[in-house]
Amino acid sequence: MTEEAPQKDLSKIPVESLKGVGPSLQNKLLKIGIKTIEDIVFHLPYRYEDRTRTSPIGSVVTGGAYLLEGRISEIKIIYGRRRSLLAFLEDPSGRIGLRFYYFSKRQQQNLDRLEKVRCYGEVRQGATGPEIYHPEYSEATIENEESKNLTPIYPSTEGVTQSRYRKIVSEALSQLHRFPLEDLASESSSTNLTTSIRYLHQPPADAETDLLNEGRHPAQKKLSLDELTAHQVRTRLLREELKTLKASKLSIPGKLYREVIDAFAFQLTNAQKRVSAEISEDMLKDFPMHRLVQGDVGSGKTVLAALAAVHAHENGLQTALMAPTELLAEQHFATLETWLRPIGVKVCLLTANVRGVARKELMQKITEGEIDLAIGTHALFQKEVNFKNLGLVIIDEQHRFGVNQRLALRKKGAKENSSPHQMIMTATPIPRTLSMGFYTEMDVSILDELPPGRTPVKTSVLSSDRREDVIGQVNFACQAGRQAYWVCTLITESETLECEAAEEVASDLRKRLPKVSIGLVHGRLSSQEKNKVMQGFKKGNINLLVCTTVIEVGVDVPNASLMIIENSERLGLAQLHQLRGRVGRGSEASHCLLLYKKPLGTISRERLDVMRTSNDGFFIAEKDLEMRGPGEIFGTLQSGELRLKIADLQRDKKIAIESIEMATKLLAQDTEKAKRLVKRWVLSEDKLNLA
Ligand code: ADP
Ligand code: MG
Repeated sequence: MTEEAPQKDLSKIPVESLKGVGPSLQNKLLKIGIKTIEDIVFHLPYRYEDRTRTSPIGSVVTGGAYLLEGRISEIKIIYGRRRSLLAFLEDPSGRIGLRFYYFSKRQQQNLDRLEKVRCYGEVRQGATGPEIYHPEYSEATIENEESKNLTPIYPSTEGVTQSRYRKIVSEALSQLHRFPLEDLASESSSTNLTTSIRYLHQPPADAETDLLNEGRHPAQKKLSLDELTAHQVRTRLLREELKTLKASKLSIPGKLYREVIDAFAFQLTNAQKRVSAEISEDMLKDFPMHRLVQGDVGSGKTVLAALAAVHAHENGLQTALMAPTELLAEQHFATLETWLRPIGVKVCLLTANVRGVARKELMQKITEGEIDLAIGTHALFQKEVNFKNLGLVIIDEQHRFGVNQRLALRKKGAKENSSPHQMIMTATPIPRTLSMGFYTEMDVSILDELPPGRTPVKTSVLSSDRREDVIGQVNFACQAGRQAYWVCTLITESETLECEAAEEVASDLRKRLPKVSIGLVHGRLSSQEKNKVMQGFKKGNINLLVCTTVIEVGVDVPNASLMIIENSERLGLAQLHQLRGRVGRGSEASHCLLLYKKPLGTISRERLDVMRTSNDGFFIAEKDLEMRGPGEIFGTLQSGELRLKIADLQRDKKIAIESIEMATKLLAQDTEKAKRLVKRWVLSEDKLNLA
């Protein structure tokens, strides 16, 4: 006999080759991203149920889930507040109610007819004693005896029942012996990948259900390592690929650069010196910079943008600075214009509000290279805008932008095989756990020092019952010449409602505080209107600014030293921290009052306590991650950047560290193998190459 046929791998075998998978099922599977047998194999259960043995009905405890067997002793319809069907299941040890709120006549007759019923469900304390609501049930026959394995429950099998899906999985697993999975991450380890996969799809009856349900079983750890290594490898391959792009190589910063620094009314902080040097050094290279600058609110990131733009300008290159809101773009324009005009850098503002002739003229200037620094919102990156010589793209507060916009941007300046340098500034600290090469392919700089003379913001957490006192405090502060923000937030996504709430609060406060000059900004005002109010607040003509969360990013009014945030329990910690960063920018001691509506749950209380006791953005981000899980923090950004199927960076911290070494080893040994690993775990739309 000769050797076996050359190995085909499971990623090349389509699902329709499995027994029982026709076009309709194939389509349904496609909807949940399953195309190949490999996809099935790596689509893992998220939970397990123990249906391996029946329990005596008399032994059940509320809260537990059981497989029970017995006969139906009574069946009736209960006409209560809500009509329900109630059947009693009985065995020699006791009886239990099976309750159905949704039921049909047929179901009722069917239940009545069954000789012996086997059912599974969670036991609750019901009106008649222990009850199971909507149990899964079937006739107990000899063929459908207790299952031999723990029952896996799969995530999103939309349109395919769990039991049907389990059959497909069995079919897929039966292919494994012919095409064993390539053990990429660690060959030395005792359990191999194929065994672990089998185990996780069909754990034996004596497997530890709790361990499995917590995701801490060795088989799961094995797969987590595989997955995290895949993400590590992907990040590194991306970085390598970025280095193959070409960029304009700048010469070292010159006279103008030093002039701007000298002209600032302040000394750069050490962190600003360090990070600005990192940025300049990046741009001395002939491949594009991809740097993420993380700096807490108020750490002075705008200075870095200014310096980088000057550096580009000294080399005859244009810079585009993109802000997430018009308000911010306008503010950046005002600041940067003041700093840079004196040294001859031509700055312009391009937002959706610049229309008609003015817009045309501006476009032309950009195209002809008469503008050195163009500041704007995403309007900057529409097709009609053509830079003559775009050398640097700066994005402020990138969590507001989607990944797609970032990619569009990457392409924007890319000409003849050359891409602009790119710098992203964010005030949302990425928890250290996530920044270890899992989150981004960019180089990361951390601006971890606030300019001197700031007093930390003192934060208090108050029930909204104390609103009267709070209004008194606002009155007092404003009369004393200080300024305050009153932030209105709502739980709904509706911007309209949020604006209405802000309008209501503003008119109420105007009535009660006649001596205080009150302004209002929200997302539905035109930017001229917003601008007028903001300017008034900046100049001190307005004492109290009632606003929605539009104020969240970047607004800078150093004299504002009091902030009230309503419904603070509903906001994420990162967002609260951002908002709070609007105060504490001057030398005056600042206060932030977090109002909440009673009753406050334990977790909400803990979360607000984090805000009360810490001003450290990194610490807060880490806590936020612990309390909510990474997906929620970064929202769309997170889901766009990092989709983990089995690993959990919080739970699997140790494995994450291990995967870093593993990736290094793997890449050194066999790049092709490493790429196969990436293909296995990283969704196919996240293509490896950047094109
Ligand atoms: P952020 O990092 O939140 O964008 P900004 O760039 O808006 O912070 O800076 C916040 C404030 O601190 C601004 O008023 C800015 O002029 C000021 N600032 C920046 N750098 C320094 C510094 N080195 N010393 C003193 N003030 C500074
Ligand atoms: Mg800023």
